[in-house]
Amino acid sequence: MDKPTADTCYWLDKNDRIVKVCEQWDLFAHENEGDKVLAHHVIGQPLWRFLSGDETRMWVEMILNRVRYIGQPVERPYRCDSDNVRRHLRLSVTPLDNHYLSIESTLVATEPRTRPTFFSTTSGSTSLHKRCSICGRVHHQQGWVEPDEIDDTHIKRLDYLVIYGVCEDCAPLAQFKTAPSPA
Ligand SMILES: [Zn+2]
Repeated sequence: MDKPTADTCYWLDKNDRIVKVCEQWDLFAHENEGDKVLAHHVIGQPLWRFLSGDETRMWVEMILNRVRYIGQPVERPYRCDSDNVRRHLRLSVTPLDNHYLSIESTLVATEPRTRPTFFSTTSGSTSLHKRCSICGRVHHQQGWVEPDEIDDTHIKRLDYLVIYGVCEDCAPLAQFKTAPSPA
């Protein structure tokens, strides 16, 4: 009863194909990723079509396979930011019958960015950075940092050309025990 309702959810078959999405999916899609991920575009498609970067795909694949293997739900934090807001979410992966999985995302907290910050993986941006798909940070001279906190503060808007991957802090989150610990 007290369990928070997921903001979005979808179901995968044993081949990681999206077989169903929740009712509120299209509302979330409109507000975030845009019309290309509306329900009628994603149902029937492999999940991998919607993830950017080999490291990101490997990170997600490790979690999905291990949840199927251990047969227990797993939760991990991740980020899905908008231009102006840092959005902290919780990813919940739950095993179902026949190696199906339920994938839920729940918004946990938000905080404003210091400046509007935009990302693209195509031409037209001003700098090339690696960006972590899980925590949303970018790699800069001093390490992994919030993308809106680097460069000169007089820049009112930041535009990044990024490649997606997984940082050293988030990579271990894909690894967890393959069997429950003895009590
Ligand atoms: Zn990270």
